Amino acid sequence: MSPDKLKKFLFILILLTFFSLAAEKKFKVVIDPGHGGTNIGAVSGNIEEKDLTLALAAKIRAFFRKHPAEGIEIVFTRMDDSSMPIKERVEFIEQHQPDLFISLHFNSQKVLSTNRGFEIYYPPDFVSKDPASTALFYDKVNRSFYFGSIFRDLYFKANLHTTWRLPLNMFSQKYNFGLFDDTTVPGLLLEVAYISSPEDRACIENPLFTADVAWFIYDAIIQISNKNN
Ligand SMILES: [Zn+2]
Repeated sequence: MSPDKLKKFLFILILLTFFSLAAEKKFKVVIDPGHGGTNIGAVSGNIEEKDLTLALAAKIRAFFRKHPAEGIEIVFTRMDDSSMPIKERVEFIEQHQPDLFISLHFNSQKVLSTNRGFEIYYPPDFVSKDPASTALFYDKVNRSFYFGSIFRDLYFKANLHTTWRLPLNMFSQKYNFGLFDDTTVPGLLLEVAYISSPEDRACIENPLFTADVAWFIYDAIIQISNKNN
């Protein structure tokens, strides 16, 4: 082979390798069912938050198995009733380096029972003191907000809004939350409904509600991954 032909051959080889690697790169999502084991989370009567988050994660997994989405990889922090401290969840997320992590929770209010609805939390955008990490930090916050906005926009077409009439709120997380503070990748925390609210609780106790929440999250992940490509 002449040097020119060899150059061409190598160039094509590099190009093919590059495109096949790019094609294999999947949009990776870590789903984190909150609480578990001795950490039961919020409680109301016989309802414990750790069971609700696990049941929801199982339903999301079932949808991904029934309707596989090419180009998306889903990983779960826990799929049984085991305790998992925040530190371990952070390590899990950092090890996997997903494009997005979603932590699943159900809210509760101790005194009043009037707070209700679905809440989307994204990391706060306080200025990082370390200039070297500022760009990365803002990238994480901006992406989280962007992914959260896709959830918010889809919400109004989803059964959660049209059938269950659940109100929606989107917030920047104000209080110290390890999963946001100690991870370097985009993340969202979803508080699905208030178990302390009689209206929300009526939804939670209906198995169709869990399926609709799971479908909403499944659908949002597909839309997010499509927009990300
Ligand atoms: Zn929780």
